[in-house]
Amino acid sequence: MLYILKKKIQNCVIIGSGPAGYSAAVYAARADLNPILILGNQPGGQLTTTTNVDNYLGFPLGISGNCLMENCKKQAERFNTIIINKIVSNVFLSNKQGGVHRIFLEKKEEYIDSKGLIIATGSSPKFLGINKEKKFLGLGVSFCATCDGFFHKDKEVAIIGGGDTALEEANYLSKICKKIYLIIRKDHLKGSKILQHHIFQKSNVNILFCSNVTEIIGDNFLKGIKVFNHKYKTSNIFSVSGLFIAIGHVPNTEIFSNQLHLNEKGYIVVKRGSTITNKPGVFAAGDVQDSHYRQAITSAGTGCMAALDLERYLSLFK
Ligand SMILES: Cc1cc2nc3c(=O)[nH]c(=O)nc-3n(C[C@H](O)[C@H](O)[C@H](O)COP(=O)(O)OP(=O)(O)OC[C@H]3O[C@@H](n4cnc5c(N)ncnc54)[C@H](O)[C@@H]3O)c2cc1C
Repeated sequence: MLYILKKKIQNCVIIGSGPAGYSAAVYAARADLNPILILGNQPGGQLTTTTNVDNYLGFPLGISGNCLMENCKKQAERFNTIIINKIVSNVFLSNKQGGVHRIFLEKKEEYIDSKGLIIATGSSPKFLGINKEKKFLGLGVSFCATCDGFFHKDKEVAIIGGGDTALEEANYLSKICKKIYLIIRKDHLKGSKILQHHIFQKSNVNILFCSNVTEIIGDNFLKGIKVFNHKYKTSNIFSVSGLFIAIGHVPNTEIFSNQLHLNEKGYIVVKRGSTITNKPGVFAAGDVQDSHYRQAITSAGTGCMAALDLERYLSLFK
């Protein structure tokens, strides 16, 4: 049995150890809520899969994703956050104001009861499923133009995807890069008409329809890609310094799906301008409730909001 069960009902359990989870922990701990944070299957979250983070405020020379998240952990520990290296397998969320939520860990008999719950389980980017894409993450392969576009200033890059995210990435990169290959599996774009209109007007965006990336070229970092056109059955090699995969993200919300309001993409719905969900005492922060910005700093920001929202909520029951 877990030692934390000795104290029957907790004030604050945080699920997830990305920027949102740790930020919530620091704020909750400093508000004397004695938070318990559950690391999950990816301790440190998505940033541990990248090399350098250059856009997180406060690090003028940038910082490695792993270092940043290790610092976040230390900061949360400094204020006595209890950190548990487990995965949440299920939750039972109360409908009552001031009610108690039950958070189940890997073994069924291990659970934590808490009046407050902050969900910061993030999202997972979809991979293409081809060789070297994971190996070259941060070495040319990226899921985020805002994060990594700058490294490809005046160079040629490729983007994969035809939806809104891919078109937004193409629009952003078209202002930084010399040339962009927008690679689309179908024979048409899926994104909104207004974004399509923008992209068609860009002279440095080349759209390759009916095409798939079949190979990533390079030994230690990305040097190019092989693209197969399934209409004409031809393959071509493109020398690019960056490959931006924009075929979507999956929010990690499966265990909450029958209890929380989710939007059509599966993200947790929060009350506008807050982290409040449809269950009293349950708050959501970071990418798990944000399909739009998806940045470390916005996640940390909403993590802070969640702790403040929870503190206010608990104060009603003192
Ligand atoms: C390759 C890559 C590079 C990036 N580069 C940048 C960058 O340079 N700058 C930037 O601002 N953003 C960058 N991002 C985006 C940034 O990483 C995310 O916006 C941010 O990490 C989201 O933080 P989060 O705390 O919401 O969730 P995440 O970082 O996704 O963390 C989610 C956490 O939830 C945990 N979890 C999930 N399910 C469970 C469960 N059932 N039980 C317990 N725990 C669970 C996971 O273990 C993980 O710790 C990058 C993303 C990727 C993939």
